[in-house]
Amino acid sequence: MDAKDFKYINNSEAKKVLSVNVDNISADDLLGFILLPEDKIEALVNLAAKIKEQYVGNTVYYRGLIEYSNICAKNCLYCGIRACNNKVERYELNEDEVVNAARFAAEHHYASIVIQAGERTDSLFTSKIARLISKIHSETGNKLKITLSLGEQSEETYRLWRDCGAQRYLLRIESASEDLYRKLHPADGKHSYKKRIEAIESLRKLEYQVGSGVMIGLPFQTPQHLVNDLLFLKDFDIDMVGMGPYIEHHETPLYEHRALLLPKNERFLLGIKMVAALRILMKDINIAATTAMQALHPKGREMAIVAGANVIMPNITPLKYRKDYLLYEDKPCTDEDSEKCLKCLEKRIATTGNQIGYDSWGDSKHFTNRKNS
Ligand code: SAH
Ligand code: SF4
Repeated sequence: MDAKDFKYINNSEAKKVLSVNVDNISADDLLGFILLPEDKIEALVNLAAKIKEQYVGNTVYYRGLIEYSNICAKNCLYCGIRACNNKVERYELNEDEVVNAARFAAEHHYASIVIQAGERTDSLFTSKIARLISKIHSETGNKLKITLSLGEQSEETYRLWRDCGAQRYLLRIESASEDLYRKLHPADGKHSYKKRIEAIESLRKLEYQVGSGVMIGLPFQTPQHLVNDLLFLKDFDIDMVGMGPYIEHHETPLYEHRALLLPKNERFLLGIKMVAALRILMKDINIAATTAMQALHPKGREMAIVAGANVIMPNITPLKYRKDYLLYEDKPCTDEDSEKCLKCLEKRIATTGNQIGYDSWGDSKHFTNRKNS
């Protein structure tokens, strides 16, 4: 974010912004939310909290996160595990490690898991994932819903994985504005905005529950970019959103632009405003309280839940690999095993007045409503 572009609105304008018609949110309203001064954020959060309670209830659903591999063929300029970062020790879990993590989720009543990794499209990888999905289902009695977060793939691969039993897919657009997208990715023929959009469209066509999202507080990002992001998620009728603050990583090319960034506390509050604005705009979707929120504030995920999020992704990757899956610096939950993470999260969620949806898939209501309409 170029701090120069970022001017908070004054008190009387804030009053107007907060008396919006929530059933008819305009681009101007969204811009107003984003530019609210700090002392008005609580009012925005209260509005979003009411909408959350009314449309999706005060239940938070768990998705056990398995960071399957940090091997990646891509070079996104912001990401710590990009292919060219040769300081990363690369790993890939074996089948037993993945199945055991999935079993942990099932036994602890999580009901859903996410398999995330760097992007690979080779057939060795795609067939391994297919086998894993089938094996997880057979070993856990088809109790778990499986979300994948494995980047851009061909329609055939998405179909294969769906046919093996993956029901949800997360593919962030990162930034919905093509100009900014280009600044975040190398022009090497492997990173195309158009292909990203086509991948999201394939997922939709194949009837996945489709998740997307963006990074917040990026260098070069303006408030208008963030408005475009929110409108993109609405226009694409996205079912689930994971978005969180951009956090710099010193072994990445984007690090050189760190002087353009908002201070971490302001970036965090911008994240909270975005979550609240999205809940007001897209009332019945699932929104994740992302780990990146907690990287910038010790109570970041709890605050995101209060501001409208209703999904959380406890890390269930075997502990020894966690330090090697550093998309960004200061990533939390890298030194506590899955059991400890669970206890810590239970306590944290209790402070928000939300309950945990154990044994419940917590499908996106938006997806269900979309299917039934
Ligand atoms: N390779 C897959 C999944 C792993 S990356 C993919 O790219 O879709 C998952 C997400 O991590 C990305 O979508 C990106 O939004 C986020 N991420 C990567 N680097 C980050 C950083 N420096 N700060 C915050 N989020 C980051
Ligand atoms: Fe690879 Fe995903 Fe990181 Fe891009 S964001 S470098 S695709 S892991």
